[in-house]
Amino acid sequence: MTNDELEMKPCPFCGGVDSDCFTEDGTGEGQYWYYVECRRCDSRTGFHETDGAAITAWNTRANLEKSDGALINEDTNAGISIKGD
Ligand SMILES: [Zn+2]
Repeated sequence: MTNDELEMKPCPFCGGVDSDCFTEDGTGEGQYWYYVECRRCDSRTGFHETDGAAITAWNTRANLEKSDGALINEDTNAGISIKGD
């Protein structure tokens, strides 16, 4: 699966479109995880096994925010967490 197949929605928190899918070795054991992070406000998804899953989580959250208009920063179950200042 490639990113070309999936379009990331604007950031549900700041509306920025400068978000991207990143990968990192979260365990130090060669297991790479994917997440989407907004370059503007640093909100990001949780870690996912594939880039597609990370982007889907990002887009799903974007849909949720668009539907109810509420920011639920403490809701990590939805796959999004906010970095503290
Ligand atoms: Zn943002």
